[in-house]
Amino acid sequence: MSRLTLADCFDPDGERFGIPTYPWRYAPDDLATRRQLRKRGLRPGGQDVAAQILRPRRRREPLTAYLYRVDLARPVRPMTPARWAALAKANAARRRCPECGRDAGYVIPPTLGTCVTCAYPEKQRAA
Ligand SMILES: [Zn+2]
Repeated sequence: MSRLTLADCFDPDGERFGIPTYPWRYAPDDLATRRQLRKRGLRPGGQDVAAQILRPRRRREPLTAYLYRVDLARPVRPMTPARWAALAKANAARRRCPECGRDAGYVIPPTLGTCVTCAYPEKQRAA
C-alpha cells in the first residue's frame, strides 16, 4: 500500500477499504473501539466490526483500530460464582510449576517455563 495521508483515510462508505473508515480521532461518536467500550462498562457483544480507524505512520503500515456500534454494545457480563471459580482455577493452573508440580505462589514466567527454584537450582542452594 502506498503511503496514506489522513485524507485518504476518510472513507465513511467503505468504497476504498471495503469497510467504513475514518482517520484517527475523526470517528463518529456512536462508534467506539473495544477499549473505549470497556471504559464505559460495555463490550461489543458479538456484533461485527462496524468500521475502522486508520492512523498513517511514516514508512510503515498504518495503525488500525476496529470500531463497534455503541448502540449494539452490551454491558460487561457480571461475575457469577461459577465465573469466579473458573477464573481462580485458571490462575491456579498458571501458578503451578510443570517441573515440580508445586504452586509457586506466582504466575510461572513464560520465559522460564518453570518456577524460579526449578529454573535456577544452583543459585537457590548457594543462597
Ligand atoms: Zn518448580
